[in-house]
Amino acid sequence: MSTAPIDGCRLRYECPMRWDTLERVGRDESVRFCGQCQSAVHWADTEEQAIAFGRQGKCVALGFLDAPVLGEMSIGPLSPEELPPELAEAGLWGLLVGDAVGVPYEFHPPHALPPLEAIDLVPPRGFPRAHAGVPPGTWSDDGAQALALLDTLLSTGGVDLKHFAGNIKAWLHEGRFAVNRSVFDVGRQTATAINRLMAGVAPEQAGPSTEQDNGNGALMRVFPLLMHSWRSPHHLAHAAAQQSKVTHGHPRSHVACAAYCLWVSALHRWGPARAWAVIEDIMQGPTFADNAGLSEEEIEFVLDPAWRAKASGSGYVVDTLWSARIAVEETGDYASCIRRAIAFGHDTDTTAAVAGAAAGVLYGLDGIPAAWREALRGRDVLDPLMARWRQRVTER
Ligand SMILES: [Mg+2]
Repeated sequence: MSTAPIDGCRLRYECPMRWDTLERVGRDESVRFCGQCQSAVHWADTEEQAIAFGRQGKCVALGFLDAPVLGEMSIGPLSPEELPPELAEAGLWGLLVGDAVGVPYEFHPPHALPPLEAIDLVPPRGFPRAHAGVPPGTWSDDGAQALALLDTLLSTGGVDLKHFAGNIKAWLHEGRFAVNRSVFDVGRQTATAINRLMAGVAPEQAGPSTEQDNGNGALMRVFPLLMHSWRSPHHLAHAAAQQSKVTHGHPRSHVACAAYCLWVSALHRWGPARAWAVIEDIMQGPTFADNAGLSEEEIEFVLDPAWRAKASGSGYVVDTLWSARIAVEETGDYASCIRRAIAFGHDTDTTAAVAGAAAGVLYGLDGIPAAWREALRGRDVLDPLMARWRQRVTER
């Protein structure tokens, strides 16, 4: 098909499969399963229906054409279009720099922090720094695990959990992906999960999964998924949940990771004022939860607007997501966003890393203060990974 059959829309991918060869799903005649894409396909009787499904990133069978055409639809902003490479790179830098700037302020309540304008890569003289032996410009577990995920994407072409679990173990025990191979910060849940991995528990079951096990350790590292291409929002959301399972097995963490990825992807297209509404639209769509393997209840819980008033920079995954959102939405440049994220206090490096990746995508590499970029340590770890990633991008 050379031209799109629907005004104003284009099919991202014309699929060779035919409706009558697809597997039936339950009693619903309008949905079938495509083994090739491992995806649900939705029958559309009208253009309007097709557009509505397309807005949710679904595969659609165009039943109103003479011969139904299947294809992944990509309409306007609601598809997780790949970030332009320079912004994907800026996002990773934003994460690493945000993490590094936040490290010395960790554990402090907001009232014990320097005034907003004095928050910097090197804290003011006399400030009782957390991790006092760690030189300024050092990323922590957030940055290291993000690089571990990027390495898995580059090495396996996706989120291979066995590979990723190996990387996470190598980080904790050998300092792989850490600056100077020095690990100075590990979350409680992540440590538990790694012990379980060492004892032979399967990666997808290693993450503790009670409601109390909802720290932000899977959210803080998820950004590199946006340096990869995904067929649709539900594929991206599913990948976000998968990478979480290795250390954080509760469905709330999966939803928070998915919401963050979709939000950052939408930020690029829509800007901070509209991006969140776009992801609400996607995630609350009628079949999104099922397609992405997420809990509908947890989607409602994580997206509940009441969280905005409770944001406090804690290590709780929902709080981190909302604190980062506020830092991005209430500021207009990268440095202000990082300072705002740190000003919440408590888990400052993670809030700043999560907000920082989003701000990196919004403001680009040049938007990150040069002094902060130049002070970032660990280039011997980062640069070879970025070179591999750039090579991969040119091969696409
Ligand atoms: Mg950290």
